[in-house]
Amino acid sequence: MDQKDAATGLPREWQNAGIMNDAVLSPPPVGTPGGPKVLLEVFGCQMNKLDAELVVTALKRAGYDFTDDDDEAAAVLLVTCAIRDQAEHRVHSHLGELAVAKRSRPDLAVGVLGCQAQREGQDLLTRWPSLDFVAGTRDFGKVAKLLDQVRADRTRVLSIEGIADEVSEQRDVTVRPHRGRAFVNVMRGCDKPCTYCVVPRTRGAEVSRSMVDVVTEVEELVADGVKEVTLLGQTVNAWGRHEGHSLGELLHRLEDIDDLHRVRFITSHPEEMDDTLVSAIAACRKSGLFLHLPPQSGSSRMLRRMARGYTNERYREIIAQLRERIPGIEIGGDIIVGFSGETDEDFEATVDLLRDVRFSQSYIFRYSPRPGTPAFGRLEDDVPDKVKRKRLKILNEIQTEIMRERHEALIGTRHEVLVEGSSRKDARRLFGRNLAFDRLVFEGESSWEGQFVTLEVTGATPLTLSAKVLAEPTDAPRDTTLARTT
Ligand code: SF4
Repeated sequence: MDQKDAATGLPREWQNAGIMNDAVLSPPPVGTPGGPKVLLEVFGCQMNKLDAELVVTALKRAGYDFTDDDDEAAAVLLVTCAIRDQAEHRVHSHLGELAVAKRSRPDLAVGVLGCQAQREGQDLLTRWPSLDFVAGTRDFGKVAKLLDQVRADRTRVLSIEGIADEVSEQRDVTVRPHRGRAFVNVMRGCDKPCTYCVVPRTRGAEVSRSMVDVVTEVEELVADGVKEVTLLGQTVNAWGRHEGHSLGELLHRLEDIDDLHRVRFITSHPEEMDDTLVSAIAACRKSGLFLHLPPQSGSSRMLRRMARGYTNERYREIIAQLRERIPGIEIGGDIIVGFSGETDEDFEATVDLLRDVRFSQSYIFRYSPRPGTPAFGRLEDDVPDKVKRKRLKILNEIQTEIMRERHEALIGTRHEVLVEGSSRKDARRLFGRNLAFDRLVFEGESSWEGQFVTLEVTGATPLTLSAKVLAEPTDAPRDTTLARTT
């Protein structure tokens, strides 16, 4: 892959794909003019970005303003991720820089929030005497109070809540980085026992928001101009199961909201796929045609060691069913290479899966043991790093080739995209996504952001489709059948 991010090792464009993203909320939101300024830095997934929006809401209500300029910030808050050790290292190295900055600016308040805060807790305060407060994944609503407290008293605070059994979002729907689209947290935490994963420890048990809460928030977002929502959850297709609801039911409910044109959802768990959801995606015309359904491995033996709850055969059955019942559906996958005990034979089974399923995009990672996971200290990290790297390279090459072939086959086809913004390199180049989550780049006006444009694909690379505009932008999709038929 070309153009990799030095810190994450992922292709940069993948980081724009909506699933992985490390960025300050850009542009910084507007708070109370004249209030103390906060610089908010967000590491990790979309769920973290949404958590950052909750932080923004809490700080705005308390009279804070925002900046992206280090020099004018009265406080720097880091919303953190604990999934991979690389992300945590970045936060530690940033805390090192902030410790140096605080020598000349002792009034600067520094806080760490979110998953890494939840996982490391007091250790963070012990390691970094310059750090003022640490707040966990269920403490976002208290951030303004904590910041007020440390700025007034110069006390140091650790706030790590136990696991709440309700999800309170208290979101200001007008605070969001994009006009036309928004993320909506529909649940928090995870009940799955995946042995490599730290999420159940950092985010707690699975708790769904109520149907009425979610629908109300989506209606408010739509009233404020949002045309596409992405429902977020660690196992989003398990939404509502403890309350007698299902994600399929929610998709049908959202289908009825006028002026909402697209509904996406990430991330789905293979064990939670059922007929109701497959039928709902097939029936709901607003539903995206991209399912992020991580297999993690193509070896049933490895899936057992990972405690994923399904076999390779079952995963393949699900894919076959999806493709039979939903024309045009594309599948995204996550794969871990080099998990404890992975043999050449296990790896070959994953290669076969990758070749057979032909994911439209896939996030492939080397396993690294994370403290706090069920595997840590119990399942030996016995695949040499050299072997992990080699396997990663093989899978990435196969995936790149699949994406190249798939994209080339799309040349000449027509698509309707929701314009997401301008290319960082060239402001005249815009990008948007079709229902199948393909990223199309084309020339247009920045004022088109948040509108729908019909395009024809004219060129392809493994990561991007170039396109030309066929019709002027509109507020609503012209042809809802377009993406389902081309
Ligand atoms: S489903 Fe497994 S991998 Fe996903 S968040 Fe839950 S424990 Fe982690």
